[in-house]
Amino acid sequence: MSEYVSTINACKMCMPIGAALAFRGIDGCIPYIHGSQGCATYMRRYIISHFREPIDIASSSMDEKAAVHGGGPNFKKGILNVMRKYNPQLVGVATTCLTETIGEDVPRLVQEFREEFADLPLPEIVTASTPSYSGTHIDGWHAALQAVVNGVAQPVDSHGGVTLMPGFLSPADHRWFKELGARMGLTLTLLPDFSDVLDGPTWETYQPLAPGGTPMEAIRRMAGARATVELGVPHRLSPAQSLEQRLGTPARFTDTPIGLRATDRFLGVLTELGGCVVPRPADQALRGEDRLQPAAGSRVPHQSSSIRVLRGRPTTRPSGPTSSRSMLR
Ligand code: SF4
Repeated sequence: MSEYVSTINACKMCMPIGAALAFRGIDGCIPYIHGSQGCATYMRRYIISHFREPIDIASSSMDEKAAVHGGGPNFKKGILNVMRKYNPQLVGVATTCLTETIGEDVPRLVQEFREEFADLPLPEIVTASTPSYSGTHIDGWHAALQAVVNGVAQPVDSHGGVTLMPGFLSPADHRWFKELGARMGLTLTLLPDFSDVLDGPTWETYQPLAPGGTPMEAIRRMAGARATVELGVPHRLSPAQSLEQRLGTPARFTDTPIGLRATDRFLGVLTELGGCVVPRPADQALRGEDRLQPAAGSRVPHQSSSIRVLRGRPTTRPSGPTSSRSMLR
């Protein structure tokens, strides 16, 4: 029998790629990488090859001159280009190794941009600090969502809904959560939600931004939810905790529903918050059968078709801490 060697330092990707994925789960949001073109190209290429779906990631395309004198002019010109080309509702800015190393003050650049172009109908702009040498794609994911929650959510009256932050899972999982919420009679807002964006039907005509994602209005009203439920291991950049600290929405943490105990805990939280019952066990959504079904007309049967081969063997892998705790318990 061959000797088993466990992986201690798991494969990790660059921090802004996690931020870009989280941003793309919001309706009308364009991820904008403040750094060199190569970073954005790498992220586009990686995401497209994994999900087999088109995705645009904008870049401020910093060159040597900008690296020495600061990337402010590139940053502002890039946002204007993005507004012209994509007409976004939200620009999700993520920094890179380069801009963090030269100490770029991105919130100040955004402030200057808003003042300089106050006469234009500007989109909302949020910024996430994502130096790749200090974190993984999971840290970038949380940094982006924390920036969105801090920048977009407003104080509103209670509306009785529930916000679910599913963590770093697949489009099929996102679709399953929405279906489950609907069958339980819950007003469930998923943040982010790339079930359509990264697993959608073939288009008749090209669309600059794939339709789908969490509506901006739902994020603005997120503070009025009964609670924000975050799945997986609580993270130091938890958006649910940020929302609780800033606007008082209770944060709840529970496991990703994999396995009986974790699923019981997860459903227990939803039924308690929603005052509803779990769909009957024979229900297709609860059994998770349609978790494997693609959106109607999807080009690929499921994300798993593009899952990588590890050392010559097809592999099933947890998507980081979001699902690994439930899988390993
Ligand atoms: S330079 Fe940094 S931010 Fe850019 S792709 Fe490489 S690791 Fe990611």
